[in-house]
Amino acid sequence: MYRSQTCGQLRSSDINKEVILSGWVQKVRDKGFMIWADLRDRYGITQLIFDEERTSKEIMDQAKSLGREFVIQIQGKVIERSSKNPNMPTGDIEILVTNLVILNKALLPPFTIEDQTDGGEDIRMKYRYLDIRRNPVKNNLIFRHKVTMEVRKYLSDQAFIEVETPYLIKSTPEGARDFVVPSRMNEGQFYALPQSPQTFKQLLMVGGMDKYFQIVKCFRDEDLRADRQPEFTQIDCEMAFVEQEDILHVFEGLTRHLLKEIKGIEIGDFPRMTYDDAMQKYGNDKPDIRFGMEFGELNAVAQHKDFAIFNDAELVVGIAVPGGAAYTRKEIDALIDWVKRPQVGAKGMVYAKYNEDGSFKSSVDKFYDEKDLSLWAEATNAKPGDLICVLSGETHKTRTQLSALRMELAQRLGLRNKDEFAPLWVVDFPLLELDEETGHYHAMHHPFTSPKPGQLELLDSDPGAVKANAYDLVLNGNEIGGGSIRIHDKETQATMFRHLGFTEEEAKSQFGFLMDAFQYGAPPHGGLAFGLDRLVAILGGQETIRDFIAFPKNNSGRDVMIDAPAFIDDAQLKELNLKLDIQS
Ligand code: ASP
Repeated sequence: MYRSQTCGQLRSSDINKEVILSGWVQKVRDKGFMIWADLRDRYGITQLIFDEERTSKEIMDQAKSLGREFVIQIQGKVIERSSKNPNMPTGDIEILVTNLVILNKALLPPFTIEDQTDGGEDIRMKYRYLDIRRNPVKNNLIFRHKVTMEVRKYLSDQAFIEVETPYLIKSTPEGARDFVVPSRMNEGQFYALPQSPQTFKQLLMVGGMDKYFQIVKCFRDEDLRADRQPEFTQIDCEMAFVEQEDILHVFEGLTRHLLKEIKGIEIGDFPRMTYDDAMQKYGNDKPDIRFGMEFGELNAVAQHKDFAIFNDAELVVGIAVPGGAAYTRKEIDALIDWVKRPQVGAKGMVYAKYNEDGSFKSSVDKFYDEKDLSLWAEATNAKPGDLICVLSGETHKTRTQLSALRMELAQRLGLRNKDEFAPLWVVDFPLLELDEETGHYHAMHHPFTSPKPGQLELLDSDPGAVKANAYDLVLNGNEIGGGSIRIHDKETQATMFRHLGFTEEEAKSQFGFLMDAFQYGAPPHGGLAFGLDRLVAILGGQETIRDFIAFPKNNSGRDVMIDAPAFIDDAQLKELNLKLDIQS
């Protein structure tokens, strides 16, 4: 028996008990005649005491040889601690050690295994197994487990069945590049790893499974913008015989359940907003509604004077920054520089201070009088003391830029409170999205999304105007899930592929299996997927999903611990009938 208790378990009620504990040596304090060691396992830390008067010489000597992170087993008696530590659950007791076995020695770890470590991100990733011993990482993994278990419990109670789907499959277009795997047995052919189990879950609906879920890895080969992982986990779901309303109901229930069980927060009905409204009011399809600063469109009140920049713009739009009238010239100049950074891309920014005394002072006083500016204040809902920031230009770009400014200012003003949770359904997404570079439309969600009833005809005349029963769940400005009602008949699916630029042959070779299945009694169906990593990070009140993944990859898609990806040897290449063509 390695242990009778864990290192987090013993209390003063256990005094005089004989116990056996196993764990890692957190630290040793050697006073010569007395040695204290902290013994750590997943459950906590227990103080050990070795005392010359009561511990044998042999054990004393062994205790002196202990180093950090040695794995040991001890036997001893629980005694009352003379100087108690109220900050530790086991702080009232210590173990007077009578026997010690060193189960394994350890090299000195390259960083301290403490809550506040001296190790930087890179070294901690290389030795992630040591990092996992630290409370912050360990607790995040335990937290993730709790969320995952609650998801399984909730969905299972609602009659969902968890079904595994294969990883070695064929392209599932979700808007990223595929990771591919060469097939040894099928010369020259490749599997693609699923970007999501999309087609399989639809086939499960054709198979009559009715309510499916899976907590599943998905793989997307995309440039790793901030806080993305090439493999990530989804809570993937699909239901048959449902309308959008049924799906929103179930998954609003799941989210509410998680907020209640995990955070102890009860939230009423989630607000809903159309995609068009979200874009107009927040310049963003995943608005953070924990704070206001809604957009006010100013075309009507700013395009009647001689200010050419505004007159020539498709959109003039502003936000009111609470308390911003007090900003100094320097602070405002810094904001202007901020919006002009290439990442934001604005050409400039017009501002108007709405002073506490009700007067206005703007950067365009030459063109606009107080009366004009008071109309700007009305449109942006500005109060005395606010700063009105105005951008102008092409509609979509300007909205995106102002949205970036809104988020940045909210962050600076402390309006993005991580303990507040503001879910929102964004609904009625466009079916298609124009790719500005190629001039082609592609599916905004994915090619299996159904147009709203009666809108199929519009595909020819005005493709950009077609709306879909597609929805996203947004939490605190993050998209945590999205889905749609699917196409479930062959003809519509074929039409959709045609509009997305697939030839009939291409559609058949890539998705023939799905269109075939639709001919054998496919029920109406729909679903969604939640990003588990992000959901867990948000519920955990943290920013980066990496912190909630046991073995994450870095920004270049590398696992620096196992050093992957890696070259394979010639024999393996040959077996796979592959030749590399790389410039060295
Ligand atoms: N497959 C979709 C995704 O990964 C989710 C869905 O439509 O159910 O985003």
